[in-house]
Amino acid sequence: PLILTIESTCDETAAAVINDRLEVLSAVVASQEKFHEQFGGVVPEIASRAHVERILPVIDSALRKAGVRLSDLDAVAVANRPGLAGSLLVGLMAAKTLALAGNLPLIAIDHLQAHIYACRLAAGKDVFPCIGLIVSGGHSNIYRCETPLDFTPLGGTIDDAAGEAFDKVASMLGLGFPGGPALQRAAEQGDPKKFRLPRPLLDDDSRLEFSFSGLKTAVRYQLFGAGKPEMNAATLDPQLVADMAASVQAAIIDCLAGKAMLALQQTGFQRLCIGGGVAANRPFRERMERLAAERGIELHIPPLSLCTDNAVMGAIALEKYNAGQFATLDLEISAGLERPHLARST
Ligand code: ATP
Ligand code: MG
Ligand code: FE
Repeated sequence: PLILTIESTCDETAAAVINDRLEVLSAVVASQEKFHEQFGGVVPEIASRAHVERILPVIDSALRKAGVRLSDLDAVAVANRPGLAGSLLVGLMAAKTLALAGNLPLIAIDHLQAHIYACRLAAGKDVFPCIGLIVSGGHSNIYRCETPLDFTPLGGTIDDAAGEAFDKVASMLGLGFPGGPALQRAAEQGDPKKFRLPRPLLDDDSRLEFSFSGLKTAVRYQLFGAGKPEMNAATLDPQLVADMAASVQAAIIDCLAGKAMLALQQTGFQRLCIGGGVAANRPFRERMERLAAERGIELHIPPLSLCTDNAVMGAIALEKYNAGQFATLDLEISAGLERPHLARST
């Protein structure tokens, strides 16, 4: 079959056409960075408006680049969870409309499962079962992934996501948005041992949990001191910024690497798949590659373009197509503010 996949969960508007050999016939991504830059983070209302403007041109462009028409498609797939409500709605409405107009089956994509499926695409072979680590702007979750569509939450963050920590600290350091790539760049000139920052929960082998919100506070106090609410990144020495960037990055990587290894140990799994925007971080990738090689772990991390949001990873829809798992036209969005791993423990 030929499947059109649509992604609009956050601030990327994306569409792709995939065939039944998981070949990518076309892939289009429109980013909104320039709209959100001045606010230092994604503004939901601006994101949904930008999706409205871009969704049809993006879909049109994906179809044209693939050389297919609506009537050539066998299904339309859309990420309907989790994400920003307004953003999700735009993609869902577009998908439903195409499904109705083209009399095509509709497939619902879980954006987080899709982030892990990017590893399947990059590997070119089955990567399940595996431990899945999703490190993105909104999530830092660890799953036991039996199949591409069957995830059991094992743990995750109890406050901020890893990407959020990158973004917020980068903003405090005056590095701009999105913060992850900017902080990585600044860190290249810095000393990761210059500042002592906390690695919360890292030593607690009984918990597969992260906590990144304290990092912001730690950075703030070390840079600007107590009782000085007026923070001004412009006054910071560039070497100090680089050292802090390197120190923060090292702290985040230590926590992610430590808990990923703990999850493998606890479950006895030998295979680790990492997805989400933070998986694009080069020092993180290198650390994971080193650890995996040392411990005989089969590691999968997608190429950079498949780490941040894209519609290619929506190829997971083929798994649902083959399993006959279709959605009806009353499909809804699920913004998914719940924290699945916490819900279990309460
Ligand atoms: P979610 O997938 O949880 O819904 P999202 O879709 O917004 O969130 P992604 O697009 O997967 O998130 O990832 C975006 C995040 O990845 C941002 O927080 C960004 O700073 C971070 N990121 C991107 N590149 C890098 C990098 N090189 N180093 C660190 N972080 C990075
Ligand atoms: Mg994004
Ligand atoms: Fe994402």
